[in-house]
Amino acid sequence: MAWFEKLAIVVFMVLFMECFAWAAHKYIMHGWGWGWHKSHHEEHGGVFEKNDLYAVVFAVVPIVLFVVGLWWEPLWWAALGITVYGGIYAFVHDMLVHQRGGFRWVPKQGYFKQLLQAHRLHHAVEGKDGTVSHGFLFARKPAVLKAQLRANANPQRRGPPRGKPTVVSDISAPADR
Ligand SMILES: [Zn+2]
Ligand SMILES: [Zn+2]
Repeated sequence: MAWFEKLAIVVFMVLFMECFAWAAHKYIMHGWGWGWHKSHHEEHGGVFEKNDLYAVVFAVVPIVLFVVGLWWEPLWWAALGITVYGGIYAFVHDMLVHQRGGFRWVPKQGYFKQLLQAHRLHHAVEGKDGTVSHGFLFARKPAVLKAQLRANANPQRRGPPRGKPTVVSDISAPADR
């Protein structure tokens, strides 16, 4: 394989993993997988949290790909891309935002500051519902996220409850109709 093919696979996998992490965080961890993720949204004094089990489970995939990749090289580079994402994620999420491992750096401006603010806003809601900003490397502006938080907190903006659609009366319609 040419070097640019390897690089393309790694870059693609990093971007793919951000999409995968966003979906897994939004629909699994804040859905049926909340049992493990809950520990990450609560104060605790321990070094580890149940949520770390996700990292262990997800790590199985690149390990298998590294082994299978000994026979088919593209998979080996895909596994490397996943591992690179894992490293970036551990740095941004665990160290920078949650200051694990004694890491203390509060960025004052730019991209990292926006990441930090976005993930803090993810933690601004108690419980699993109504949270914003489920991605990690692509963060929206704090003002956008705050508007989403307000919309989530306002039940009229949250859409119909499961099952029955809500009938919204048209307030602009004339009264005699
Ligand atoms: Zn979460
Ligand atoms: Zn977090």
